[in-house]
Amino acid sequence: MSEAPDRRGIDPRFFEEGPTLEIGHPVFMNYRREEVHPPFEMMEEMISRLESIEAEGKSLPENPEWARKALRSIYEMVDQLGEAIAPGMSCEAGCAACCRVMVSTSSVEAALIGDRLSSEPPDRREKWMELVRSRNARLSELSGRTDPPADLSTFEGLLATCEDWEKENLPCPFLGEGNLCSIYEDRPLLCRVCWVLTDPEDCSPGAGPPVKFRTKVFEKAYFVVSDISVRHMKNGSVSPIPWWLEPH
Ligand code: SF4
Ligand code: SF4
Repeated sequence: MSEAPDRRGIDPRFFEEGPTLEIGHPVFMNYRREEVHPPFEMMEEMISRLESIEAEGKSLPENPEWARKALRSIYEMVDQLGEAIAPGMSCEAGCAACCRVMVSTSSVEAALIGDRLSSEPPDRREKWMELVRSRNARLSELSGRTDPPADLSTFEGLLATCEDWEKENLPCPFLGEGNLCSIYEDRPLLCRVCWVLTDPEDCSPGAGPPVKFRTKVFEKAYFVVSDISVRHMKNGSVSPIPWWLEPH
């Protein structure tokens, strides 16, 4: 029997299925045995800001422009939390094994990426679209292997294909020079909250799995973004990033 990877001091609660940091969870250690102090006050304030955005979204008629603005505020919020906890995390610029996994993305997040593509010079856009087409061709092939074929606009379809996708070890079409994200300001929520406590080596395909810092802030943000997508973009699908960028 193979031995479990050495997590070197990480709070054992993070090994439990679906670990989520509750507001008030005690201090814990990262793999370098450094104490991480979650910024509870900031997190509580964020939850109530997310509740306000959610309530505003529910009170308004369909408004894709409002949806984009609301998403930008949510991104700003989770980035602020990311900055506050960054010293305790393993993530840093140029570390990008996480850009080779399937990133589940909602319609409003995809709309911001689509806007970004439209604002780029045609040659740059075409270069990205070439990669998008090649990734989608591979995704189509993999989704057709399951019986019935996986629907890549549903969470179940993504679950059915994500393991095979990881084995492909293909980078996201937007992973650029120096392993940096070329659409950093517009990257989806999951890319923003991929905060890892274990050795970055654990993120490489076939290694790990990494232990992630999951909080109620992330859960609430994910829920509100989904709700905004349904109400204001009239599309509750989730798909891998490139899948949104071509008609299916
Ligand atoms: S999630 Fe893993 S691969 Fe991605 S930046 Fe963090 S440590 Fe590196
Ligand atoms: S959008 Fe950027 S951060 Fe997200 S997977 Fe692609 S390259 Fe990585």
